[in-house]
Amino acid sequence: MIRQSLKYRKTITVIGFLCLLLLVYLLLILKRDINDKVTSHQRLSKKEERIFESEPKREKHVKLAKMELDKNIHSTIKELQDAKARIEHLEKKIAILEGRIPEKYPDVKYLGYKERKRILVTGGAGFVGSHLVDVLMTQGHEVIVVDNFFTGRKRNVEHWFGHRNFEMIHHDIVNPLYIEADEIYHLASPASPPHYMQNPVKTIKTNTVGTINMLGLARRVGAKILIASTSEVYGDPMVHPQPESYWGHVNPIGPRACYDEGKRVAETLAYSYAKQENVSVRVARIFNTYGPRMHVSDGRVVSNFIMQALQNLTITVYGNGKQTRSFCYVSDLVDGLLSLMASSYTLPVNLGNPVEHTIEEFAMIIKNLVPGCRSTVATGAAVEDDPQRRRPDIAVAEANLRWSPKVTLKDGLQRTIDYFREELSRTTFYNNQTYMDINVKPHN
Ligand code: NAD
Ligand code: UDP
Ligand code: UDP
Repeated sequence: MIRQSLKYRKTITVIGFLCLLLLVYLLLILKRDINDKVTSHQRLSKKEERIFESEPKREKHVKLAKMELDKNIHSTIKELQDAKARIEHLEKKIAILEGRIPEKYPDVKYLGYKERKRILVTGGAGFVGSHLVDVLMTQGHEVIVVDNFFTGRKRNVEHWFGHRNFEMIHHDIVNPLYIEADEIYHLASPASPPHYMQNPVKTIKTNTVGTINMLGLARRVGAKILIASTSEVYGDPMVHPQPESYWGHVNPIGPRACYDEGKRVAETLAYSYAKQENVSVRVARIFNTYGPRMHVSDGRVVSNFIMQALQNLTITVYGNGKQTRSFCYVSDLVDGLLSLMASSYTLPVNLGNPVEHTIEEFAMIIKNLVPGCRSTVATGAAVEDDPQRRRPDIAVAEANLRWSPKVTLKDGLQRTIDYFREELSRTTFYNNQTYMDINVKPHN
């Protein structure tokens, strides 16, 4: 019994000794680990090591901690500076983008989804197109403008940029276009003689291939399509005033042919698609139209004469000035286009103002409307194939659309002169371009 208890005590002592040894061993491992962590964390630079070696231990630690802190502060300051520069850069970008978005859009009516139409306006960044877009937008429709900016400008529609009902597509309609629409106003085509004569092949392609594409689109989606035709389909007319029933007098190979014949083919295409493919078409034969947003250097008579009068330059009448034109203010034309689209009348309709003036008279009207104008009126060589008389017979529009122009020439010109005066103040120069090489001589 005594021997057994002695043996038991010995075993306990041995086990206790072994436990002590294990404890010491564990403590040693733990200490080495801590040392390793401290050295790897502090990774001393050579300069720091030197300090470490040369100074008392506590001071050394304080210095090292300070250095570490300085390093951290320095990198934080750098990060803050980088962030500040990035924020400034983004702020500038936002300011530019905000500058492009109008602070307030013109008032737009709310239309329920049943009344709201999706309307495509080709050439919507041009003179007539942009005014039409304004009315369609304020009526509350969704408007898609398609334009290649050949003669149009983003500026004409920029007040709608960003509006949820507005979309702008930079596209040349000579290429196919696959979108959805309920109605199409097909206005894309240069309209001023110097513009369409500048690239006659493109003018023909736009009015033929481009019109086929728009008719193809109308056919695919079942949209109603209005084609912007022109009084030029009557050429240099032998009938006066011109009714829709007149077939015209056009030189097929003259300088105006690319436009005149292009529009005649566009009309033919419209009625072929109507007959063969059941496309619902409207054809507006538009006579000379004027108003704000005409391009200052588009070479048409209204822009040329007003710009010349505002700068006291010679007013350049081409030929003897006895040729006539009838001028329609743009808001009247837009009303006519909307009425035609809404009507069930499918044959061509003249839209224009029947008040007729000779170009010579027109020069004097403009001169007298610009206060203090010192311009002289001069005549020059006549333009080839220039139509000599033009006045719309608007009986069809009056009877079927209940439409006739409202704005007088004086009021319309006054608004247009104000617009051109504003345009002049925006530009530092105006190149007094006339579109033909004309030898201008003083008027007798
Ligand atoms: P505009 O030159 O100001 O506008 C025409 C628009 O069509 C421009 O924005 C132009 O960039 C765009 N365009 C031209 N070719 C294109 C193409 N291939 N693809 C896409 N866009 C293209 O002319 P406007 O005076 O506003 O005339 C509009 C329409 O009315 C034209 O079809 C024109 O023939 C017709 N028209 C106008 C008048 C008038 O006195 N303003 C008279 C008769 C007919
Ligand atoms: N087209 C288009 N958008 C459409 C549908 C047709 O641009 O949504 C073009 C098409 O590329 C074609 C033209 O319109 O060149 C005429 O189309 P149509 O369907 O009349 O004839 P087809 O496709 O048989 O040539
Ligand atoms: N015209 C003019 N001086 C000009 C510009 C045009 O006498 O600086 C004449 C032009 O010869 C034509 C008429 O004004 O007889 C209308 O020309 P515009 O180019 O405006 O349109 P058009 O009706 O000929 O398409």
